[in-house]
Amino acid sequence: MSHPSRRTVLTATATTAAALTLGAAPARAVPTLPGGTSQDKVLVVGMDGLRHDRIAAANAPHLKAMMSEGTYGTSLLYANPMAATSSGPGWSTISTGVWPDKHGVKDNTFAGKKYGQYPGFLARLTQVRPALSTYAAVDWLPLDTQGTITPGADAKLVLDGDRDGYTGHDATIAAEAEAIIKGQNPDVLFVYFGQSDIVGHNQGAGSQAYLDQIAVQDAYLGRLRAAIKARPSHATERWTVIVATDHGHTDPGGHGGSSVEERRTFVLATGPGIAAGARPIDTRLVDVVPTVLKQLGIPVDPAWGLDGKPIQERSADPFDTLQSSLTGRVDETGIPAGVLGFTHTPPSGWSLINNAMGTGGVTEWRGWSFATDEFWSRTQRDQSRELNVRARGVFAVADSDEWSDKSFSGNYDTTLVTPAYDVTGKTTVRLDFTTFYRQEGAQSAQILVSFNLGAPTAVKSYTSDVISQPQSVNVPVPAGASSVSFRFHYTGSNNWYWVIDGVKVTTS
Ligand SMILES: [Zn+2]
Repeated sequence: MSHPSRRTVLTATATTAAALTLGAAPARAVPTLPGGTSQDKVLVVGMDGLRHDRIAAANAPHLKAMMSEGTYGTSLLYANPMAATSSGPGWSTISTGVWPDKHGVKDNTFAGKKYGQYPGFLARLTQVRPALSTYAAVDWLPLDTQGTITPGADAKLVLDGDRDGYTGHDATIAAEAEAIIKGQNPDVLFVYFGQSDIVGHNQGAGSQAYLDQIAVQDAYLGRLRAAIKARPSHATERWTVIVATDHGHTDPGGHGGSSVEERRTFVLATGPGIAAGARPIDTRLVDVVPTVLKQLGIPVDPAWGLDGKPIQERSADPFDTLQSSLTGRVDETGIPAGVLGFTHTPPSGWSLINNAMGTGGVTEWRGWSFATDEFWSRTQRDQSRELNVRARGVFAVADSDEWSDKSFSGNYDTTLVTPAYDVTGKTTVRLDFTTFYRQEGAQSAQILVSFNLGAPTAVKSYTSDVISQPQSVNVPVPAGASSVSFRFHYTGSNNWYWVIDGVKVTTS
């Protein structure tokens, strides 16, 4: 959960942790929650700093069972300057369902948090469905004191793992949550385990100790799953279980930075309507809250400004259809050979115009490419490519900076053309998409529209940075027009980049 600087503190407290745990106040009575009111029930389990690519090597039968029974979506986080890959931003993103540029938490100081506008999901549930019986158990104290998770919970267990050590407190959390699921009627629970992050810091994510800790927490998860199945009313209930993490870890241990290992996150969910064995490429960490709401039958108010979507809903992004044709690196050196993440072949019906494009350069980025977050952001760290948070799966990118890293001649000039869409009898055509544009020098980025295959005219230009935002362009349909297509035209000369994703054209 911590900045690397907290390692010292954690190591110092570790020696006294056992004594403190043993000598702690008498075991508290399990709190009594108000009676539940919903047959739809949700358990969210947070495991701090859990590198998903280490689960396979661990003795983790319950996580693996959930992967086969449910849907498992891995993705990458932001990095600075949007936010550090730390617990404050990570758990805020999970709990609020929005990215750090909205919830405002950029690091573990929580300075700038906007939980008033973007509350955690238990606080949200209290507003919209106060009759739900809710419970939260955490042992990283800021999740309570900073208001990230516990506000709105009908009952909570808050322990101080930094002071006392996490091992004993995690066990206490597992036992109390198990007792409440077995003996009471909660509707929504959030249960947090922190020791995975401590072992990650102290022994590294590459260590056997880290795998052993995954096994410990997997056993806690197994007890909670068994408690759900043992409920006398289980047959008439519809339970969803979600597991997520707030950030990854380097192999030697530590996080906060921009490496892919630190940015690794996942959302794993089982429950009604959630496909078994699915591995979607379009799941992101903001999807936990919309999944919770969907499973509880609570409609999302657009005024909440949520960034996520339920894990069972696929984005209708034409670029995601390219996943199976993505290939590995050609000229790039920073991308491991096994990472399959780019193609120049557009989706069916789309086309590229590269007749004004220079020659040579880095093959991967010669003109518009279709790429994944991991492939593109591995090209060069800390040039803000990590901030592409609102793209999902495969996106289109024009990157004159990376193209120029190999001998080339001429300018970077590339156009991406959408299919033609029917506008017969319509008055307005609307283009929705997500954009990430970083401006430099004489670079240009222009959207043009063409009706009935006529001459394209500009409808929007970008001249300053747009850091991963949804966009919407409305264009009147001329009388008699029957078809429309859009063009994304980028020019540059060793400048920055332009990302387009989630293109949707609608008419009215
Ligand atoms: Zn940490």
